[in-house]
Amino acid sequence: MAVFVALGAFLMTLAGGWVAQRVTDRRHLVLGLAGGLMLGVVGLDLLPEAIEAAGTPVFGVPAALLLFVGGFLAAHLVEGLLAVRQVAHGASGERVPQVGLTAAAAMVGHSFMDGIALGAAFQVSGSMGVAVALAVISHDFADGFNTYTLTSLYGNARRKALLMLFAAAAAPVVGAATTLLFTLPEELLGGYLGFFGGALLYLAAAEILPEAHHTHPTRSTLLCTIGGVGFIWLVVGIAE
Ligand SMILES: [Zn+2]
Repeated sequence: MAVFVALGAFLMTLAGGWVAQRVTDRRHLVLGLAGGLMLGVVGLDLLPEAIEAAGTPVFGVPAALLLFVGGFLAAHLVEGLLAVRQVAHGASGERVPQVGLTAAAAMVGHSFMDGIALGAAFQVSGSMGVAVALAVISHDFADGFNTYTLTSLYGNARRKALLMLFAAAAAPVVGAATTLLFTLPEELLGGYLGFFGGALLYLAAAEILPEAHHTHPTRSTLLCTIGGVGFIWLVVGIAE
């Protein structure tokens, strides 16, 4: 099931890259919606379930919440490292293709984590799997979009950008498939989902939402975001 859903992620990533090639003016609405769906999944579904699965307090705080904060910080750290490289290389004012490839490789690694989270969620429960599938598939559009844009922005050939896009699209399927090889204890799964939630929230708050509002600071983008959160609340409520 997880691998089947990961195929949806595969298609969504390719769709994002395809749109990146021919920029449309509806992009900000899709990104706004993706940000809302991610916020909804993390806050309304992922965290409550992760706390239930890995709620053992560590020095007064549930383990799942500590890992959630750790995931947020880890994503922040990775982005900071990429930014430092970018500044160092770009000081001379020229765009170094290597920077684009490094950033795209980070996107591939992230997409692999998406796949693992997908498989882990389905190991916890079916409803958990569906929730994470929503979070992964909805933002994979942004993943594909960013992978293609980052690679080509720094002067890499179109063929290379397409290659990175394909790698980012295949990574969730590979990640989900690896989770079929082992069964993890529920405590560990909950912890990983907490960590994943932190990274996901960072991605939504620091990358996707600012990009959605970048060129079109419109009310409709905000409505898409709120609609995304409301949709997840509805899904969680119905599943209860
Ligand atoms: Zn992703």
